[in-house]
Amino acid sequence: MTATLAAGTASHREAAAERYPTVPPMRPAWWFAEALAAEGDVPPCPALRGEAQADVAIVGGGFTGLWTALALKDRNPGLDVVILEAETCGAGASGMNGGKVHGYWASLGGMAAQIGPDGALAVARAGARAQDGLRAFVRQCAQDVWWREGGSIRVSASPAQDQKLAGYVATAQRLGVPDSAVALSEAEVQARCASPVMRGGVFFEEGATVHPGRLVRALRAAALARGVRIYEDARMVGLDPGVPMRVRTAGGQVIARDVVLATNVALIDRPGVREHMTVFSSYALMTDADPDCLSRFWPGEEGISDLRMFVHYFRKTPDGRILMGSGSGPILYGDRIGSDSARYDRASAARAEAGLRRLLPGFGHVRVASVWGGAIDVASDRLPYFGTVPGTRVHFGCGYSGHGVNPTYIGGQCLASLVLGLRDEWTSLPLCTRTRPRLPPEPFRYLGGNAIRWGIMNCEIAKERGQRGSLPARALAALPRALGMRIGVR
Ligand SMILES: Cc1cc2nc3c(=O)[nH]c(=O)nc-3n(C[C@H](O)[C@H](O)[C@H](O)COP(=O)(O)OP(=O)(O)OC[C@H]3O[C@@H](n4cnc5c(N)ncnc54)[C@H](O)[C@@H]3O)c2cc1C
Repeated sequence: MTATLAAGTASHREAAAERYPTVPPMRPAWWFAEALAAEGDVPPCPALRGEAQADVAIVGGGFTGLWTALALKDRNPGLDVVILEAETCGAGASGMNGGKVHGYWASLGGMAAQIGPDGALAVARAGARAQDGLRAFVRQCAQDVWWREGGSIRVSASPAQDQKLAGYVATAQRLGVPDSAVALSEAEVQARCASPVMRGGVFFEEGATVHPGRLVRALRAAALARGVRIYEDARMVGLDPGVPMRVRTAGGQVIARDVVLATNVALIDRPGVREHMTVFSSYALMTDADPDCLSRFWPGEEGISDLRMFVHYFRKTPDGRILMGSGSGPILYGDRIGSDSARYDRASAARAEAGLRRLLPGFGHVRVASVWGGAIDVASDRLPYFGTVPGTRVHFGCGYSGHGVNPTYIGGQCLASLVLGLRDEWTSLPLCTRTRPRLPPEPFRYLGGNAIRWGIMNCEIAKERGQRGSLPARALAALPRALGMRIGVR
């Protein structure tokens, strides 16, 4: 039955490619607009004027910066902490992501190859602690951030993806954590989310969904309530080294002993980061609401993703919408993170919509309300890194690789420990200690990355149609693995 339906959807997809996107990509993201509206008339924080002093200056008011501020206040309430945010807290990736929350149990295989089995298990357990931390935060915060803990599922959506399912289960058994990955038959997947193209899956108990816009705004409110001073519309334009350091904005400066750079993709121009990171873009859409229809074919609360490298990821909202994301956006050249490719690429928006219609035809009558795109910080080994610039008290964290809602909590803990000079359960994680693979410099990175991206996308689309990718596409798709890189490999 599945094969017939999959073949039937190929021609649908071809027609679809011309029909989509029905809505052009735009800003702000649906989540961020909804969160600001729900918040009401909360005034922006002031811009920085003149000179301010602080123990710690955090640059960037997304999840990483805000979790770091809260972790510092938890550990030492007397610390004087300042956040400088270029726009409004949450205006970056934190306010526009899919809101799929999961740690690293589904990444054990790739991580074990990269950082060894013990390192992989340590990172996966840190992700579990992060989910505990997120749960504790959302339970005590005043705002309803749409937190739902239903676990997560990886599904096979084409015969070529089937073989990956067994790999998750085998890896979990090999590493002595068999309960972390539970195989689901086609019937079991269909009972959770009825889709003609889903052929089986793996269930990970850890996993949740959240309203990312409301979460980041709740973190901002919590930081303010704990005495963190936040400046908005306060872009860092310079960082002068020394003891103490000087963080400059257009209107003033903060003198601080420690500086935490939590600016995500904007870190790409820094030595120590640019050799290990490249910037892709990711797109997501939000549908209108049809709660009755949705609960009929998707009764559970799981976040779901398929097994493409350029993954489709999707989740429900409590008011009966579907968010469908596609990690297939263009690679950006060098430090051009604000380019239109990151925000307004119609082809990427079309892929998200085609994915929605193919994977979840039960929602085929429901309109797309909004679609948006943003830049993501992809590390050479797909894991974030938290460190201190040698010989300084400048700390930084990035490399979430499109998967940061849970890991930014880990980032906040690691960065707080680095500021406090602690060697503890956080800073001893491989996320702070490993040697990261290097990437080729520009323009080779951009040209090579785009060639590999084209090869992998070509192969993945062909396989969903029951075909093979062209020979050049297959050769390019195989390149990262041949070079021992995890970019382009899932
Ligand atoms: C479309 C999309 C979908 C995604 N879906 C998911 C998902 O479902 N699940 C998941 O786990 N992850 C997802 N991610 C990734 C996740 O959103 C990020 O990993 C995470 O939000 C990173 O948080 P951050 O605080 O490090 O970065 P950001 O939220 O980007 O925060 C950085 C902040 O720094 C500010 N800034 C930049 N430069 C300066 C400067 N010079 N001075 C002052 N401030 C500055 C920016 O304005 C920004 O607010 C997605 C990302 C995108 C784009």
